[in-house]
Amino acid sequence: MQGFFTKKEIESSTPDGRTLSCVSCGLYKDCQSPRMAAYGNFKKKIMNIGEAPGEMEDKNGKPWQGRTGKALQQMYKKLGVDLFEDCININAVNCRPMDEKGGNRTPTNHEIDCCRRIVLKAIDTHKPKVIVLLGYPAVYSIIGHRWKKDLTSLSKWRGWTIPDQDYKAWVCPTFHPSYVERSDSKEVSTVWEQDLRQAFEKVNTPFLLYKEPKITELTDLSPLNEITHGPVAIDYETTGIKPHAAGHRIVSTSIAINENEVFVFVMPETRRELRPLIDLLRNDSIGKMAHNMKFEEAWSVERLKQNVVNWWWDSMLAAHVLDNRQGVTGLKFQAYVQFGIIDYSSEVEPFLQAMDNTNANSINKIDALLKKPGGKSTLLKYNALDSIYEYRLAMMQMKLISENCLPF
Ligand code: URA
Repeated sequence: MQGFFTKKEIESSTPDGRTLSCVSCGLYKDCQSPRMAAYGNFKKKIMNIGEAPGEMEDKNGKPWQGRTGKALQQMYKKLGVDLFEDCININAVNCRPMDEKGGNRTPTNHEIDCCRRIVLKAIDTHKPKVIVLLGYPAVYSIIGHRWKKDLTSLSKWRGWTIPDQDYKAWVCPTFHPSYVERSDSKEVSTVWEQDLRQAFEKVNTPFLLYKEPKITELTDLSPLNEITHGPVAIDYETTGIKPHAAGHRIVSTSIAINENEVFVFVMPETRRELRPLIDLLRNDSIGKMAHNMKFEEAWSVERLKQNVVNWWWDSMLAAHVLDNRQGVTGLKFQAYVQFGIIDYSSEVEPFLQAMDNTNANSINKIDALLKKPGGKSTLLKYNALDSIYEYRLAMMQMKLISENCLPF
């Protein structure tokens, strides 16, 4: 069977694509158990990724041998999982990092970058169903090189069970056991237990593989007249964030009609050509969804002179209702944590930045993208995927909200 990653992907795993190795790291020179092997019988196909071996692990040549390891073992046992029988255990860095006094220390990002190829190789070889990321270094190792923005902190990552489409495994970040021990807080240990319980439930949950949506590019908008029922998800790509500012326009629009089908088009110039879109917006029997509906509403009113009738769902608002942590409601973050799609936007995002980032009315660089060879297709694909993920997200949120709320 073919592996998940090409040899190149396993070898060069820094965010900027440099090839790194044990020689660039050097930790192997000073420890007793260099390149500690993954350990465990893996009966439930759970892979745990920790931080790095400490003194006891280095001495015994196996992960989780010290006090922190005992705490992890105990919590797993409480949840019906044997750390060494049911799991395989590896660390983000697999040689012991030491401070000047010979004590344990947290590995640096550079050391994690160097060791990533070993961790990715272990995933490729063992094909876990569930990957538990224990602490920030594990998140940096497994997500950091593919996430094109700032990871910020563990607090926004913990608790998701991510159907990662690259690893084809449920990726489940949570606290490192040493943080739980140190924090000495009932709340932290309760949350940790909940996170791990949810992760272990995924062992018996079929993995979700998402299919490629059907994207139809329109040059004439008349197929929009055939849409007779909703909801539909709408997304605009625009020249900036302020519709009222001079010189702005809606560049393209996408309309998802279900979780797998979407229409997308560059905005025509005349009102006559725009008519099917305007009619759709004003049709009160078709519910409309968006990710931050204020944005689509304001641009519709200002630039199309038509308000959106029958707003039905705002997936950004619902994301906030379901989880009010900072930094989790953006569509790109939600597309990863809910559907495991890590990056569909990095090619386009530089062009969505304002020319003058000190001015909220500034025009962005979207026209430069349109002038590039293939730029229009890139923009339209991105626009189409935005409304497909909005649609999928809204459906998932409705299900979650109806399952978790009492009838009122
Ligand atoms: N801490 C870790 O992160 N990994 C181990 O293997 C032991 C302690």
